[in-house]
Amino acid sequence: SDVTLRLKGNAGMLDILHGIDLDVQKGETIGLIGPSGSGKSSLLMVMGGLERATSGQVLALGQDLTAMNEDALARFRRDHMGVVFQSFHLIPTMTALENVATPLELAGHRDAFDRARAMLEGVGLAARADHYPSQMSGGEQQRVALARALAPEPDILLADEPTGNLDGANGAAIMDLLLGLSDHHGATLVLVTHAPELAERCDRVVRLRDGRIDGEAARQAAE
Ligand code: ATP
Ligand code: MG
Repeated sequence: SDVTLRLKGNAGMLDILHGIDLDVQKGETIGLIGPSGSGKSSLLMVMGGLERATSGQVLALGQDLTAMNEDALARFRRDHMGVVFQSFHLIPTMTALENVATPLELAGHRDAFDRARAMLEGVGLAARADHYPSQMSGGEQQRVALARALAPEPDILLADEPTGNLDGANGAAIMDLLLGLSDHHGATLVLVTHAPELAERCDRVVRLRDGRIDGEAARQAAE
């Protein structure tokens, strides 16, 4: 098997996450659901090396994130991971285009601005490229954050409620984009959502309750 993300040894985080053992395959899409406060965001942060597991191990692409120092983690994230946070973390002094293009430039992409423009078009924001975050709606900012995470075509994409501020049609379109990254580039996707109809579109649904995996319903991808 080709495991991209592995949490093992009862991975946990003090008082928040307990006994997580989870393998995610290359190209697999996971819908992570559960009540508010059940630990979905915390689990995503641990998977992304943004929060340290206080027990167990987190391996991504075979590398032990729990053993890396901060520099190595930052490099690994830049090279292999895209993260969309629940709050968007856009840089307020940069336009939408600059928010998407700057990380690409830093990662050495020569076509950073062209690619950023194409990504913004992909999330339906071509007309907002030169707007600042403060000039955009919550849903628009969310789509900029998503474009920024998708643009480098990460091996692993971790998205926390990326459709939370969007209406049904826009949410479905963003979901198409996310699943497309997995289909076309073999990206592994973990998606936190409160919307059952979006979680159901993933290969597998993982439910958290009180910081533990509650029910895991394996589904075959509709191919
Ligand atoms: P929501 O659906 O509301 O986003 P969630 O499932 O993402 O909820 P988390 O944000 O992971 O839940 O929170 C899980 C638990 O951890 C909650 O009890 C929360 O209060 C607690 N928690 C979250 N962040 C921290 C932190 N930085 N320090 C201490 N406790 C935290
Ligand atoms: Mg959350």
